[in-house]
Amino acid sequence: MSENTPAAAATPETAPAEKRDFIRQIVREDLASGKHTAIKTRFPPEPNGYLHIGHAKSICLNFGIAGEFGGVCNLRFDDTNPAREDPEYVAAIQDDVRWLGFQWNELRHASDYFEAYYLGAQKLIREGKAYVCDLSAEEVRAYRGTLTEPGRPSPYRERSVEENLDLFARMRAGEFADGTRTLRARIDMASGNINLRDPAIYRIKHVEHQNTGNAWPIYPMYDYAHALGDALEGITHSLCTLEFEDHRPLYDWCVDNVDFAHDPALTQPLVDKGLPREAAKPRQIEFSRLNINYTVMSKRKLMALVTEQLVDGWDDPRMPTLQGLRRRGYTPAAMRLFAERVGISKQNSLIDFSVLEGALREDLDSAAPRRMAVIEPLKLVLGNLPEGHEEMLTFSNHPKDAAFGERQVPFSRELWIEREDFAEVPPKGWKRLVPGGEVRLRGAGIARVDEVVKNEAGEIVELRGWLDPESRPGMEGANRKVKGTIHWVSARHAVEAEIRLYDRLFSVPDPDDEADGKSYRDYLNPESRRVVTGYVEPAAASAAPEQSFQFERTGYFVADRRDHTADTPVFNRSVTLRDTWAG
Ligand code: ATP
Ligand code: MG
Repeated sequence: MSENTPAAAATPETAPAEKRDFIRQIVREDLASGKHTAIKTRFPPEPNGYLHIGHAKSICLNFGIAGEFGGVCNLRFDDTNPAREDPEYVAAIQDDVRWLGFQWNELRHASDYFEAYYLGAQKLIREGKAYVCDLSAEEVRAYRGTLTEPGRPSPYRERSVEENLDLFARMRAGEFADGTRTLRARIDMASGNINLRDPAIYRIKHVEHQNTGNAWPIYPMYDYAHALGDALEGITHSLCTLEFEDHRPLYDWCVDNVDFAHDPALTQPLVDKGLPREAAKPRQIEFSRLNINYTVMSKRKLMALVTEQLVDGWDDPRMPTLQGLRRRGYTPAAMRLFAERVGISKQNSLIDFSVLEGALREDLDSAAPRRMAVIEPLKLVLGNLPEGHEEMLTFSNHPKDAAFGERQVPFSRELWIEREDFAEVPPKGWKRLVPGGEVRLRGAGIARVDEVVKNEAGEIVELRGWLDPESRPGMEGANRKVKGTIHWVSARHAVEAEIRLYDRLFSVPDPDDEADGKSYRDYLNPESRRVVTGYVEPAAASAAPEQSFQFERTGYFVADRRDHTADTPVFNRSVTLRDTWAG
């Protein structure tokens, strides 16, 4: 067995317990009834920021369902708002999806379909189902009505087809300024669903697009582009979060009225680009979004944390971004386990942060080899060993899994132990080192402290003691009972390491709470990052970046993806061994 290498994550569903949420039930029924012979889903991120753990839920759902039912999943960039998009995000999103262990069928962009969207809009105009409206955004709002009052028709609603076609062509030609006109679907200004009160489907925006450059001064609106994109890709089940429930009638309206299936001329631009001509009727199904306490998930707030330098970038290990979680030491398997535990439903809920941490502990407990590292070092000199004493002790890499093999750990006369493993005046129930007391040095023998060396300020700088020569590994005397066992590293052989002790970024469960004029900035946890210099055994220092370990008795740590080298090790604490926030 390899240690937790990324390759181990390439097959996400190795032993799938059958999942039975309501969406999978629908998919099962659609396959059983013959409504579909193959399943196709998509993950449609907007490339306007980094993906966060909420997106991971959607990714695991869309790619998971495709994988479980022998279907495929597309990755489609919803790039209809060029002002906020950036190729940096496009690259990171692909990296994240692959990291989670998924591979898309096809990589598409909404912008691949701009021509087909445009032809679809012309068709709507020709059929009297769309019109160019000259109302300003503010006027549109005033005409729209409210939940209790119907809207009023725009004065431009009765424009002739010819005039609409001409104005729309001129919008496309770039003749009009931003915001001066929109193309609106002509549906029902009295509808109880405000989304159907003649929603805009195109707006004018003279902004360069990362894919199409300056070819288009008009861009389709999300609802129109998303519905038609699904139809054009032959998506069978279009899975989205609950806030789109009220948009579903508009989604269906766009698919049904543009009706690519019965109008091959509309999809000719795809064929010309070498893309397959598909025109399915997708079904939109909504599920509840993921919310986690002690976390903010809004892209706007995540962006502000980065730009205001409240964190060290998008991949700061405290960020709930996938890049951040990855750098923190979260594994793809832990992320998928978390998504599975959270499940899929229509009930909005708030997931406890400990569920996320629990998933990581569970994965790393079985996947991470053990090592020894001392975080806050105190010197222990075993005076009865000769000056140059040096030996190699054999340690198993995993207590429960022999497949992890063994390693050699150097042992010598001077050790680093954890400062908190010694107490001059021990509290009640103390099992570790005290003056004159004994403790087991993990895998090495039983030691006693005889002398406490202090500096002028009265601080303890060194312990001097004795190693029981009858208690060495394999000896009868090693079996005698001592209360505590502590970890250690050989001072001569250990490698100095930067150790970053991360904790939750926010110290309150609801950092979005704006009561008393506060904001999430006021709830940042001052203890969320503490950097110390510790010592790690050689077999930890030589780890590859992103290798995870359990540092015995201390926590799960990962060799930092960017900064770690064998000569200058840098480890991030991924999670403590036990939940320290409970209670
Ligand atoms: P924006 O406000 O920029 O649209 P967004 O969070 O909706 O932000 P998208 O890039 O549009 O971001 O999201 C891509 C997909 O991920 C969508 O299908 C969306 O429903 C889903 N998604 C986003 N946030 C969550 C969440 N917290 N839980 C589950 N799914 C989510
Ligand atoms: Mg969105």
